[in-house]
Amino acid sequence: GSQRPRKRLVTDADLASIWVTNPTRRLFGSNGPTKLDIAVYYASVGDFMLPHLLSRPVSLFRCPTGKSADCFFQRHPFTGMPESIARIETANSEGEKKTFIAVTDTKAYLALAQFGAVEFHSWGTHIDHLDKPDRIIFDLDPGEGVAWRDVVNAAVHLRDELQEMGLVPFVKTSGGKGVHIVVPTSRKLDWKASHATSGRIAEKLAATGPDTFVTVMGAENRKRRIFIDYFRNARSATAVAAYSLRARTHLPASTPIEWRDLESIDSPQDLNYSTLPRLLTMSGDPWAAINESSRDLPA
Ligand code: ATP
Ligand code: MN
Ligand code: MN
Repeated sequence: GSQRPRKRLVTDADLASIWVTNPTRRLFGSNGPTKLDIAVYYASVGDFMLPHLLSRPVSLFRCPTGKSADCFFQRHPFTGMPESIARIETANSEGEKKTFIAVTDTKAYLALAQFGAVEFHSWGTHIDHLDKPDRIIFDLDPGEGVAWRDVVNAAVHLRDELQEMGLVPFVKTSGGKGVHIVVPTSRKLDWKASHATSGRIAEKLAATGPDTFVTVMGAENRKRRIFIDYFRNARSATAVAAYSLRARTHLPASTPIEWRDLESIDSPQDLNYSTLPRLLTMSGDPWAAINESSRDLPA
């Protein structure tokens, strides 16, 4: 049977309202998807994606011309931005007051295709409670010479460590070379404490396999090792959102995966704008329980 979430966030009326100029403009070359394909992808996965995206500050990666050289990150209001996109005044990582943006309803979400939004990146916090993150993320970044299989093994290893701490980790492909492990947390700690805790967890994991893991930035350190990037857990840092496409050839998606299915994935690139919508209606949302799975981070 169909595994569409019971809660419909994208209605038939929303679908009928999809509108873009230059619908046949292709992204990333003459074999790439069209601007309309991207709009239809986001409409199709909206019921799955929106629960993880709504009301979090967001950075859009926009590709208005369809050429990768012209893509850019946008995390502040822009000319022509739909009225339905929320504006949030808050401090950035340097403590300066800035206006950030958030998608707070389906209408705003669907309107963004017209602006060439290809990737969605979000903060690990909600706009109603900006200072208390509700998700921490471990971004596993394989260096040169690390096989996908080794990334999967590392993810499983980190999962076990996190579960031993009483946490409930979830996993997704990044859409690139790595995986993201996302841990829902009770909103008790502020950014500083939550970042520090994620760092201690990363160090602990790295200590169990110094030949496999590294926790300091820098390409040299990463050769044949996996960088456990916990720096996504700082205020105003982002990670690509669950179900977001990536702006590269074939538009792979950052795809949530059931832990039991992770090992059967050979090629994460095959989870992309054209394959994922149908796969999802068969599998359901592997992250459906994420919001009921938040726990206190260990001190
Ligand atoms: P990969 O698997 O290839 O590492 P990734 O999405 O995890 O894919 P990273 O380079 O590890 O890529 O970056 C992690 C996150 O940091 C991104 O998803 C993005 O949200 C954020 N990020 C990285 N670079 C930038 C940038 N130049 N501007 C804004 N945000 C960025
Ligand atoms: Mn990464
Ligand atoms: Mn990273």
